[in-house]
Amino acid sequence: MANYDPYNNMLTVLEGAAKTMGLPPDDWETIKYPERELKVSVPVQMDDGSVKVFEGYRVQHSTARGPAKGGLRFHPDVDMEEVKALAAWMSLKCAVVGVPFGGGKGGVVVDPRTLSQGELERLSRKFAQRIAPIIGPEADIPAPDVNTNGQIMVWIMDTYSHLVGRHCPGVITGKPVELGGSQGRTEATGRGLLMLTQRLLAQQGLPGKGMKVAVQGSGNVGGIAAKLLFENGFHIVALSDASGGLYCEQGLNIPDILAFIADRSHTLSEYQAADVRHLTNAQLLACPCDILIPAALENQITAENAGDIQAKFILEGANGPTTVEADEILEKRGILCVPDILANAGGVTVSYFEWVQNTQNYYWTETDVNQKLQAVMDQAFDDMTAVAEKYDCPLRKAAYILAVERISAAQKLRGYGV
Ligand code: NAD
Repeated sequence: MANYDPYNNMLTVLEGAAKTMGLPPDDWETIKYPERELKVSVPVQMDDGSVKVFEGYRVQHSTARGPAKGGLRFHPDVDMEEVKALAAWMSLKCAVVGVPFGGGKGGVVVDPRTLSQGELERLSRKFAQRIAPIIGPEADIPAPDVNTNGQIMVWIMDTYSHLVGRHCPGVITGKPVELGGSQGRTEATGRGLLMLTQRLLAQQGLPGKGMKVAVQGSGNVGGIAAKLLFENGFHIVALSDASGGLYCEQGLNIPDILAFIADRSHTLSEYQAADVRHLTNAQLLACPCDILIPAALENQITAENAGDIQAKFILEGANGPTTVEADEILEKRGILCVPDILANAGGVTVSYFEWVQNTQNYYWTETDVNQKLQAVMDQAFDDMTAVAEKYDCPLRKAAYILAVERISAAQKLRGYGV
């Protein structure tokens, strides 16, 4: 990621959107800056008795539209600039789907695969203690992101509940259903991708069934998107994880592959089957397919490889997978890209539903959740395409315009100077 600065990437798109809207600088100036950046040290007693100190972050980009909302990432490459960008994308994302939250994000610089379960629990609980002064159900509500999961969310919820002296499920989302989680939350980001893919193809007058899809990343987002698309008749020709990818022109056996990596003791590089060949993540992005879903990390589609992409449609499962320079190339090549701030918003939408259910202490069925999710994704897609038509601009700019309009309106109503 040598010269790549995700926050500047976000600012460039934001500025382009504000200019196209003709928005006066005062009306979007505040969106350029995160409201609060917290850096914490996280000491952890390791299994061998030694103490190791990790670095963690929590950034609240905007609370103009409601409490900050956004995931926690445990990854060795986490840094403040990345967390700031991810927090800003959350503000924009919540605004695009009309969820009454602002944007936040956090992370710890760690490779969790190097920790025992006990070390991971102590790290999660200590991190929760350190960010506790700024989080809370009406202040800032974290959720899972790369390398974090429902168990980690429960440790954080439990630690926070002890600190405030009462059961507090609404402090975090992405919890297991046994402890205040929502039906459908685990699948929500992948399901949102399926819903948007189907709506996009319907808009284009194309059938979904039989279309070839390549998915980068096979975690919560990529793995579940691949599974749901497979179940709905798409041919998943390529799928990858950090170890590399698999390709099969007739379509991969997704249930078999996901079962192979389910317990995390195997990677895709070890998977073998007839007609399946191995490829690198770079080759996956350029493989023959109709639809490409980057669902791993940011900065994957760049000026160097945007010219090689064969897909006609991109749906960004990951946050920030495409650079500004790559976007221009894709646009010139007529490749339609549904941007991250809408494409992967199914997760935060059902996180919002989880928070609502926690607040009511009344829980919905999976059918209820999926119907409500479908309504939100369809409305947001239609809102975005209406803006794209109005300003004759690409979908990313349209989604940013929609978001900036909504954040700016809330900020203006609140006022700036008091
Ligand atoms: P995850 O940890 O469950 O999965 C990440 C996947 O990416 C894994 O398959 C991993 O092997 C792979 N990967 C890691 N490094 C890679 C590399 N260098 N090249 C190729 N693959 C690599 O994480 P996730 O929750 O699926 O998140 C993936 C992306 O989606 C992130 O950008 C995240 O911010 C975004 N996102 C997640 C959610 C959610 O609900 N989990 C919601 C919205 C957006």
